[in-house]
Amino acid sequence: MANLEPCPVCLNQPTYPTKLPCSHIFCFLCAKGAILPTHKCPLCRRHISPSFFNNPELIQTESTLEVASLSSIDYHWFYEGYNGWWLYDEQTSNDIETAYQNEELFVEVLIAGFIYVIDFEKMVQYRKEFPNKSRKIKRDKTDMQIKGIAGLRTRRQ
Ligand SMILES: [Zn+2]
Ligand SMILES: [Zn+2]
Repeated sequence: MANLEPCPVCLNQPTYPTKLPCSHIFCFLCAKGAILPTHKCPLCRRHISPSFFNNPELIQTESTLEVASLSSIDYHWFYEGYNGWWLYDEQTSNDIETAYQNEELFVEVLIAGFIYVIDFEKMVQYRKEFPNKSRKIKRDKTDMQIKGIAGLRTRRQ
């Protein structure tokens, strides 16, 4: 497994490490959150087209391989997105599951630099600033209909 530099945005080991055309490496979501508003690499300011995220160059690590080997026994958390259910990334899903197990009414999670509220009573998520724009969420065993993970399309054979 490649030993990667920490992500320059969140300073953790990159989650779904993504290599930009300028060859800087970020978490997929950190890169997306930083680049979509500016169209620039946060490190070198090189222009990055938003279309890059439709077909990003991912670096194979254990965390990307987990996508392929999701256990069908465990519960995972999904949100309703374009054309179906999307899986939260592993870390966020674990944070949500922990709060759910503790019977909390809601939990706040940080996704791509924004705070989202996960409301377990209504089973919705929304950006903290925009409580009227909610999306449905669900807790389920691995769903064959999932479209991808946190905006990242999975390629199924
Ligand atoms: Zn990051
Ligand atoms: Zn760069």
